[in-house]
Amino acid sequence: MCGIVGYVGPKSALNFLLEGLYRLEYRGYDSAGVAIQEDGSIAIRKKTGRVGQLAQLCQEQPITGSYGIGHTRWATHGEPSDVNSHPHTGGNGEVVLVHNGVIENYSTLRNQLREGGYVFRTATDTEVVAHLVAHHLAEEVKMGADPTSVPTCVKAVEAALKRLKGTYGLGILFRDVPGLLIAA
Ligand code: GLU
Repeated sequence: MCGIVGYVGPKSALNFLLEGLYRLEYRGYDSAGVAIQEDGSIAIRKKTGRVGQLAQLCQEQPITGSYGIGHTRWATHGEPSDVNSHPHTGGNGEVVLVHNGVIENYSTLRNQLREGGYVFRTATDTEVVAHLVAHHLAEEVKMGADPTSVPTCVKAVEAALKRLKGTYGLGILFRDVPGLLIAA
């Protein structure tokens, strides 16, 4: 079973997230990753193997920033690999999320999203959720909503969740809304 940790606060997020992932190790996992908001973009570090290996990667390629999400994965869809590790990105990077669970209707949703021009880079069911939230965010914006407002992001997540069948714990960041972390 995998795990999710999130942090929004005054401190540097990275140490908090790694510490949280170490504490979740007992649940079992095959890969780990973090995403942290930094200067208007979201930096992602992810890797197969132990949390210690992720920590090593983060030492070589440090990220600052005071909010973010972390994940330990137990692969169900798509082999354990760096690319299939979470976090995953939706749209053009405006949505970044981690997921525990299984999306049973991912295949149908993936086909629909592909028809809408979304490009899939991983073999996971989770990437569908990331693109679906990005899609509903774009729909809100088409109707005149402000993409940088919290209610717009909440509505996009609610619309996406209504279309999912299966199980999910989610931690979601929005590139253009600093300080927002939605848990569902
Ligand atoms: N189904 C997702 C995957 O295979 C999440 C697995 C998990 O809960 O860690 O990436």
